[in-house]
Amino acid sequence: MLKAGIVGLPNVGKSTLFNAITKAEALAANYPFATIDPNVGVVYVQDERLDVLESIYKPKKVVPTAYEFIDIAGLVKGASKGEGLGNQFLSHIREVDAICQVVRCFEDENITHVEGNIDPIRDIETIKLELNLADLEVVDKRISRLDKKAKAKLKDAILEHEILTKIKETLDQNISPRTLEFPEEELKIIKSFNLLSLKPMIYIANVAEEDLADPSSNKHYQNILKFATQENTDVVLISAQVEMEIASLNPEEQIEFLEGYGLEKSGLNEVIDKSYELLGLKTYFTAGEPEVRAWTFKNGMKAPACAGIIHSDFERGFIKAETLSYSDLLIYKTPQKAKEAGKVRLEGKEYVVKDGDIMLFRFNV
Ligand code: GDP
Repeated sequence: MLKAGIVGLPNVGKSTLFNAITKAEALAANYPFATIDPNVGVVYVQDERLDVLESIYKPKKVVPTAYEFIDIAGLVKGASKGEGLGNQFLSHIREVDAICQVVRCFEDENITHVEGNIDPIRDIETIKLELNLADLEVVDKRISRLDKKAKAKLKDAILEHEILTKIKETLDQNISPRTLEFPEEELKIIKSFNLLSLKPMIYIANVAEEDLADPSSNKHYQNILKFATQENTDVVLISAQVEMEIASLNPEEQIEFLEGYGLEKSGLNEVIDKSYELLGLKTYFTAGEPEVRAWTFKNGMKAPACAGIIHSDFERGFIKAETLSYSDLLIYKTPQKAKEAGKVRLEGKEYVVKDGDIMLFRFNV
């Protein structure tokens, strides 16, 4: 399951947002996700195509795909040097696929900010510095280990050394290595370093409830937008307190409530959608009488690998995949009519699965 870590300085609204997530989770309790860890919240990914599939296949059960949020508390200035929860905190970030950084954009003199005033760009820079410093330590260690091998002219070691040196140069100047561009084969090597500063990131601008309908009046939010555009990072506008309220409503009430703010979806769902985009994730479906279900896969994955998401046996024994596009199903209304029209294709091992494909895998056991 996909994991996103919620990070941010103290008193920016992380717990409030996380509580909204676990509240949403409690309401989704009829879905088969159970969490034991109090720092982990699982939410299901809303997808209106599932409603359409439900009306067509009339299954006993509908299972959306899920998304895991981890509350990573304890980031303070100096974390990379062991302040606060220090290294423990940083090691938790290493395990996530994406970082959701909550940035405080609400003024409230009763809730102190660690730095005394509200300044989201300073906060973003503080966190960037901590992540960069933690990575610098990793990079320095790796470079010194590679020094000998690189001198011995081992080809792989030389390349790795070169890449690390490039990254080190940016980290030394406290520039995010995300700004660097690398060819495909180097990206693979970089991935193995698992650097914090290279994790996909989204900023979550937490504004006061009053600003949600008209965020143009919130200068902090405007500052983040400007900053994030230069950095090519996505920003999601939320009010953590409002998310708490939304999480306690049923789906129909939620729509009505959001309309009151002129919003189409909750901040939480916006975060999920943006993360999907950022991570290049797509959805395919399995559909039948017992169950209609959504599955998350990575853009570019082929049919056997997608089958393997359900069960490794499906991948190992993969023969073919009966495939119907969601758009074709909409045109022909029922799977039978789509089949009669020749729209149910038999795809083989090389087929690159598309978003919205409805798949039935044939495999040898
Ligand atoms: P954390 O330390 O980042 O986890 O922050 P919390 O979620 O505990 O929030 C710190 C305080 O700010 C709590 O008292 C929250 O109720 C409050 N808070 C969170 N979001 C908002 C907001 O949008 N407006 C206001 N006024 N207070 C908020």
